Amino acid sequence: MIIKTVQFVKSAVKPSQYPEYDFPEIAFAGRSNVGKSSLINTLIQRKDMVKTSSKPGCTQLINFFMINEILSFVDLPGYGYAKVSKKIRAQWQPMVELYLSHRQNLLGLILLIDIRRDPQKEEFDMMDWLETHDIPYLVILTKSDKLSKTNQQKRLLSICTRLGREKNGVILFSTKTKQGRDTVLEEIENLMGI
Ligand code: GDP
Repeated sequence: MIIKTVQFVKSAVKPSQYPEYDFPEIAFAGRSNVGKSSLINTLIQRKDMVKTSSKPGCTQLINFFMINEILSFVDLPGYGYAKVSKKIRAQWQPMVELYLSHRQNLLGLILLIDIRRDPQKEEFDMMDWLETHDIPYLVILTKSDKLSKTNQQKRLLSICTRLGREKNGVILFSTKTKQGRDTVLEEIENLMGI
């Protein structure tokens, strides 16, 4: 997919604020600081359309972006940042669960995991939730450039084993080298059936 146009649509915290359109949506989720904003900016080839986290964990908004006027990217708030208040942490789950369980437009989700970290309870919970609700998802290992090619493959295998997924079901990604960018865009096209 070639991304020609990108527009910020709006931010929302609750369903009544979601955009009222029928476009399919691809949502992005991951732990704070996993590289989610950077990944979306890399996909859309904009330097800072999605703000990278100067204050990790503080943005508790769902942000909607229109892509090529046919598709929307939905940036879900990051989870698991130790320093946010209990109140912010308590808001995250209902906000994201409401979106995932009620949004008719949702076509699939992209779950990001830092290649250097083992998946934690949050990632397993998210995958269980998605499987229970029949929402297709892709797993992306971010910041692959932080490791040598050999170690990337080792981590890929180890994480796939933990997740119980095939090696080709997990994508290595780097905003620095652009590794994985084309594959992610192809997978999004597959989800869209184009
Ligand atoms: P978010 O909180 O998930 O949105 O994460 P950000 O996109 O703000 O990234 C968090 C930090 O990781 C920033 O300092 C980024 O520059 C850095 N980062 C993100 N992606 C990559 C990557 O692919 N490679 C490297 N080396 N650093 C990255």
